[in-house]
Amino acid sequence: MSKTLILNARIFTPGRASFTGWLLAEEKKIADFGEGSAPETLKENCNEIIDGQGMNLLPGFVDIHTHGCLGCCTMDADPEKILKIASFHVRHGVTTYLPTTMTADTEATVRAIRCASEFVGKRGDFSKIAGLHLEGPYFNAAKCGAQDTKNIRLATPEECKTFLEAGILKRISIAPEFPENLKAAEIFAEAGVSISAGHTNASYADMVEALKHGFRSVTHLYNGMSGFTHREPGVVGGALTLDGYSTEIICDNIHSHPAAQNMAWRTKGREKVVLITDMIRPSGLPDGNYPQEDGSEFVVSHNGTELRLPSGVLAGSALTMERGLKNFTANANATLEETWQCSSLNAARLIGIDHETGSIEKGKLADLVLIDPAFDVKRTIIEGNTAFRNEE
Ligand SMILES: [Zn+2]
Repeated sequence: MSKTLILNARIFTPGRASFTGWLLAEEKKIADFGEGSAPETLKENCNEIIDGQGMNLLPGFVDIHTHGCLGCCTMDADPEKILKIASFHVRHGVTTYLPTTMTADTEATVRAIRCASEFVGKRGDFSKIAGLHLEGPYFNAAKCGAQDTKNIRLATPEECKTFLEAGILKRISIAPEFPENLKAAEIFAEAGVSISAGHTNASYADMVEALKHGFRSVTHLYNGMSGFTHREPGVVGGALTLDGYSTEIICDNIHSHPAAQNMAWRTKGREKVVLITDMIRPSGLPDGNYPQEDGSEFVVSHNGTELRLPSGVLAGSALTMERGLKNFTANANATLEETWQCSSLNAARLIGIDHETGSIEKGKLADLVLIDPAFDVKRTIIEGNTAFRNEE
């Protein structure tokens, strides 16, 4: 029987204050945990005993919107590159993620879905892949951001079916202001896919309507959407005031101002904010210009923290989950006890995997991250096994 014991860690669980104690993982799952010192008998026959050194033990991060890094992208549909991306994520505390597509033609999208779906269920020293997030192609070109406008189109039931048959979809971002797209949302929702309003110019009324068609969240709040005004609250107003919506947010302090993050915290609260990275191909690379095979180019600047197209348009982020949680906790003027679930449980709930992961509860998978007081990841544990360890 595989058995891992973590001692002397500050443990964060739902519905109670954090406490310093121990956690026992047995056969992939969280078997038990408690305050103070672990009973001596638990130390027998352990495969690994980990000294948490008083650091914070959180559920492993769940990133439901992330495209790629280190020169690799989900759209490359290359197993080696998927593995490289998943290995980068585990170093940043992510135990589960959704490889995310970019707006492209049917064929390229299907190729990407097929490739990443092959990794669902695979285990190793890399983050688990739970399925895919399709970011597009059913968007509003007026809010395309860095998405390719020539491939933005209205949904057809046939293409939705093709995508659903190609592999395991967990989430799709769609612009809800078009009737064709509302119909598509219903098809995806019926198949158990989490529906998010993204790259959209919807009105507040459209956002009210979208709830009736299965939409439950918005994609990267504030970015790629109609903003708030007092006579037309837009997607931002809908996202912040309608209880039916959770919201993704990129907390790199570039995509959204600290005060805007604070506003999301105050309006949506601890259960409906979902931190994402939206990492793209050049994330994790040093400053420079990176020409792409397709003729496009990315500009990485500010010590690898800003990613833009040569036109100056933001092209995704170089954020990692532990930095996002650190920024958000500070910007919300909150404690880690209040915000931890924004980096794990809320996302797991949104994509329907919270019965098995996303929080420290008995019987759930032992997907964990140990972070130091500066939020640096010291260890990532996947299903009870150490998948990454930072010795520094
Ligand atoms: Zn994205």
